[in-house]
Amino acid sequence: MITPELLNQFAAIVGESHAIRNPVEMAGYMKEQRDLWMGRSPLVLRPGSTNEISTIMKLATATKTPIIPQSGNTGLVGGGVPFETGNEVLLSLDRMTKILDVDAADNTMTVQAGAILKSVQDAAGNAGRLFPLSLASEGSCRIGGNLSTNAGGLNVLAYGNARDLCLGLEVVLPDGRIWDGLRKLRKDNTGYDLKNMFIGAEGTLGIITAAVLKLYPKPCTRETAFIALPSPQAAVDLLSLMREMSGNRVVAFELMPRIGMDFTVKHMAIADPLAERSPWYALGELADPPEGCFEKILEVALERGLVTDATLAQSETQRQALWNIREKMPESQKHEGGSIKHDVSVPVSKIPVFIAEATQAVNKFMPEARVMSFGHMGDGNMHFNVTQPVGMDKKKYLDCWNSMNTAVFAVVQKFGGSISAEHGIGRLKIGHMPEIKSAVELGMMRDLKRLYDPLNIMNPGKVVPL
Ligand SMILES: Cc1cc2nc3c(=O)[nH]c(=O)nc-3n(C[C@H](O)[C@H](O)[C@H](O)COP(=O)(O)OP(=O)(O)OC[C@H]3O[C@@H](n4cnc5c(N)ncnc54)[C@H](O)[C@@H]3O)c2cc1C
Repeated sequence: MITPELLNQFAAIVGESHAIRNPVEMAGYMKEQRDLWMGRSPLVLRPGSTNEISTIMKLATATKTPIIPQSGNTGLVGGGVPFETGNEVLLSLDRMTKILDVDAADNTMTVQAGAILKSVQDAAGNAGRLFPLSLASEGSCRIGGNLSTNAGGLNVLAYGNARDLCLGLEVVLPDGRIWDGLRKLRKDNTGYDLKNMFIGAEGTLGIITAAVLKLYPKPCTRETAFIALPSPQAAVDLLSLMREMSGNRVVAFELMPRIGMDFTVKHMAIADPLAERSPWYALGELADPPEGCFEKILEVALERGLVTDATLAQSETQRQALWNIREKMPESQKHEGGSIKHDVSVPVSKIPVFIAEATQAVNKFMPEARVMSFGHMGDGNMHFNVTQPVGMDKKKYLDCWNSMNTAVFAVVQKFGGSISAEHGIGRLKIGHMPEIKSAVELGMMRDLKRLYDPLNIMNPGKVVPL
């Protein structure tokens, strides 16, 4: 039971000016990105230090108060917002934004969990280094959230996802203990890799307060092309060709369907970069390739019928314009009504057959629904989104969310895929966990949760069905 006295005790830890109790001021923390939920909480705490978070968790443990950690609130599965019950306290990392150290010699940087991804990229860039994690939400998402969701994005095929970019963590455990694991080591085989327990845990095992991240040399040159293709199979073959002919210099490979281009051109004030319409497009990027490499690849691809047309960026402005098409594509869907999303992955070679069979499954379920399958094809990740039939009531369509998911997820599982490639489980997909995890795997997850969070106060009701 959260009493006014208890709220005062929590507020006193961070100071009254960093505790929000007014519903209007806290609305931005309560609203889920896609308007699927509007959470409710009596209090938002904005701590300024790891010690304050530790004190908050000690009080939460003593009083069995559920705590919801939130970084940038760009998550897409409802993990970072409280339930509607109004008895959970939200803890925002948005004051802990410091870049603590940029170490160009060791190629590492140490940052507080509330640092915005874009500012982390910029700090690395200012030191002549690259922090390669890159997402369309990078202007608002924060490192704590990126690590807690094991974010992916555009460059995973070359640099890995957030997990691969993290060397060390500092974490506050549910009972308030602080684990200082901020190590800069590339090699450390001294037992369990504890940081990986918290990466991708979506705030259910502890609160990430700081991290040591890996840096890379900045590429000197990039070649970027927007390419028209006859089919997803041609895209798979082109990616393979690009890897072979560039000496594995591919850093991004995105697949987009014509319907996505139609929506983007229509709603986002973007011009079609190619003269002829094509059923599929790819956006590919090479870093530090041999000079003229992409042009040579495209010539061979053209001869083999893998490519029908392409434009190569001739300047950084043109490169940004090509990326802008891909970045605006998700938003363009909003203008066409309701969209039921599937953030899935399958082995790259299975992408064509997955798209074909999942589209058939959707057509069988709702013939007029419009499939828009796009995304990070280079690492087998498709955003298999389905836009509502023209003219259908949006709410009636969105009420079909679970049944549509079931139809698509059956195809994902047939090809040994994952029903959450990037965004996590949160609240949105927790109901599917028993379908996709074996009893042993789910049991191990429950054991971990119960061991570290026996009172179930750390983002309860997310990820692990207890
Ligand atoms: C336009 C757009 C594009 C996107 N593109 C991508 C993409 O390409 N790839 C991708 O992977 N995702 C993408 N996302 C999803 C989202 O941006 C990522 O999941 C991101 O990593 C979330 O970071 P955040 O700071 O917003 O976290 P939040 O939304 O605040 O939190 C996400 C989860 O992590 C937990 N959490 C947050 N901070 C902490 C912490 N410090 N300690 C413990 N737990 C914590 C929360 O409780 C919640 O469960 C996109 C989202 C949008 C809106």
